[in-house]
Amino acid sequence: LIELRDVNKYYGRLHVLKDVSLTVGRGEVVVVIGPSGSGKSTLCRAVNRLETIESGRITVGGRDLPEEGKALARLRTEVGMVFQSFNLFAHRTVLDNVSLAPVKVRRRSRADADRRSRELLDRVGLADQADKYPAQLSGGQQQRVAIARALAMDPEVLLFDEPTSALDPEMINEVLEVMRQLARDGMTMVVVTHEMGFARSAAHRVVFMADGRVIEDRAPEEFFTSPRSERARDFLSKIL
Ligand code: ATP
Ligand code: MG
Repeated sequence: LIELRDVNKYYGRLHVLKDVSLTVGRGEVVVVIGPSGSGKSTLCRAVNRLETIESGRITVGGRDLPEEGKALARLRTEVGMVFQSFNLFAHRTVLDNVSLAPVKVRRRSRADADRRSRELLDRVGLADQADKYPAQLSGGQQQRVAIARALAMDPEVLLFDEPTSALDPEMINEVLEVMRQLARDGMTMVVVTHEMGFARSAAHRVVFMADGRVIEDRAPEEFFTSPRSERARDFLSKIL
């Protein structure tokens, strides 16, 4: 579903993605880990074309990423993204946050969008919070709204960039549980996270990045029990 081949990305002189190749199949859950600055966020942003790349190729569903216009807008609906900071609209209700894009971009009727949004809020355990404003919710609840909002566009794949990093410990699990359920439902997901429990239990593959490169790309049980590279061993010894 997603394929990156020999992707290179620079910020000025800083070479942040170095010959990155990666494929993500339909229904696959790929967890991306690695030290700070290794290029994990840049990788996610490149797939959504929030960043341009200097060389290499990225395809989603077999098609090259569109440069602009309607095709790019469509790509962004196919590739949903959930960030560390939830980026909800503060002056809109929870329901509106989820319904807005389907109404504006997908031209769904308000009633249809709201009905579907309520289903999605139910799916993330927030059926009773639809009429509140984001500030009235906990961080974990806000992040679950952000997930429902991404799902409202019926994406082919969801990219998560450290979705639980801004959360208090007691809220991390409620968000991870929603993500685990999505994984069980067959959603294609790329998840940048430091939650190794999630990586072990939900990932089909773990991609370890360091210094702009993919160093390892393996099944979680292999990666965690016998990392091949010194850098991965070093990284794991620091976080486990
Ligand atoms: P973290 O775990 O801290 O989130 P990361 O693996 O997500 O790190 P990136 O955010 O992808 O890393 O950054 C990769 C490199 O690119 C870093 O050296 C970072 O400082 C640099 N970088 C990121 N965004 C920009 C930007 N907009 N302009 C210039 N340099 C950038
Ligand atoms: Mg990052």
